[in-house]
Amino acid sequence: MRRQVRVRFAPSPTGALHIGGARTALFNYLFAKKNKGKLILRIEDTDKERSQKVFEKDIKTNLKWLGLKWDEEYYQSKRVTLYKKYLQQLLKKDLAYKQAGAVYFRTPTTGKIVVKDIIRGSVEFSASDVDDFVIQKSDGGFVFHFVNVIDDWDMKISHVIRGEDHLSNTPKHILLFKALGADIPEYVHIPLILNEDRSKMSKRTNDVNFADYAAKGYLPEALINFLVQLGWSDPKGREFFSLKELINVFDLSRVQKAGAVFDLKYLNHHNHHYLSQLSPSAYYKLAKPYIPFRGTESYHKKVLSLLQERAEYLAQLPELMGFFYKTSDYDKSLLVFKKSSPAQTVNGLSSSIKVLSALTEKSWTEKKLQQILDTTAAAEGLMPGDIFWPVRVALSGLSGSPSPVELLSVLGKKESIKRLEIALKKLNG
Ligand code: GLU
Repeated sequence: MRRQVRVRFAPSPTGALHIGGARTALFNYLFAKKNKGKLILRIEDTDKERSQKVFEKDIKTNLKWLGLKWDEEYYQSKRVTLYKKYLQQLLKKDLAYKQAGAVYFRTPTTGKIVVKDIIRGSVEFSASDVDDFVIQKSDGGFVFHFVNVIDDWDMKISHVIRGEDHLSNTPKHILLFKALGADIPEYVHIPLILNEDRSKMSKRTNDVNFADYAAKGYLPEALINFLVQLGWSDPKGREFFSLKELINVFDLSRVQKAGAVFDLKYLNHHNHHYLSQLSPSAYYKLAKPYIPFRGTESYHKKVLSLLQERAEYLAQLPELMGFFYKTSDYDKSLLVFKKSSPAQTVNGLSSSIKVLSALTEKSWTEKKLQQILDTTAAAEGLMPGDIFWPVRVALSGLSGSPSPVELLSVLGKKESIKRLEIALKKLNG
């Protein structure tokens, strides 16, 4: 009979959750759910000096935020009695020895150690390359390798799914499992995460702190899809999945061996997709904390309706929204459409001001505004660009923005005319 699938995410709370850790947790979660198994969260907090409660909290909060629920939870700091028991056992059998206050595990000098890895096949190490190593430090603290193995055994872990950076530790772990007379779990070493230049991703080159992405307004749905594709891909090339759908399609045997490149543009693409799918009220609720400008809820909502399709993440909103709340400075040359001239632009702006001023507040609708500007261009013998371009620049101060009619509609009559007059003054000045 096959063993029940039991996997674990085993972070050391010596730092906050990082992108790589979040991906490891996700792969473990998907594999557990797919196989109707259990996911265990094991906090590896044996390093008393470097482990901190804030990091523990950060890890758990972010896993929950992603929707990755675990079934059991353990803290290594509470399991010391168990570790002491097995340490005594190894000492008694002479598989470990004391030296200078520390306890060393005795490793064989000849033979091969084979790591059977679901992604990598059999990876061979030579036993002579593994020197005797410390399992308990002279201050009494237990070393990672030892407690990691005891817990994997005691917690009946069926598959160890972890980062490729641990592959070099695995021979030590296999030797420990054997010494303890324990079953060896199946191994799955998932690929390293790389920068675009294929160097190993680090804090210097990318933001690796997971919580920073949540803080910038990336959605859990987007991060899940992005993280899962750091090493895995759908056979049909599909990009967007719910967590539930991923449980069905995810397959460890499709995880690549080669490093997975972290492409921020791809994350933005995912986030843009999920942001643009939100209802206006859901979008407003999420966007609200990012709005630094004063305004009524209904004005904010109107502004956001023009930007929902534009922002890749919510922290971009203050910059995208700015001109809706305050006039921005721009160079007057920006007002002139590339196929036009300053004289024609002056004509376009002044005739726009004239017709727009005559429009009542009630008629200030996108449809009417479009109509009236079209008619004015034709009547004045101007190109559409002589009117629509400078009006848009006058209102936004930018070379790229929502359409002039949308801007007029959201800014309203009074503010729009004020900005158009400023623009005209700039050109005449
Ligand atoms: N505490 C180790 C780490 O955070 C766990 C490694 C493992 O999954 O075995 O890297």
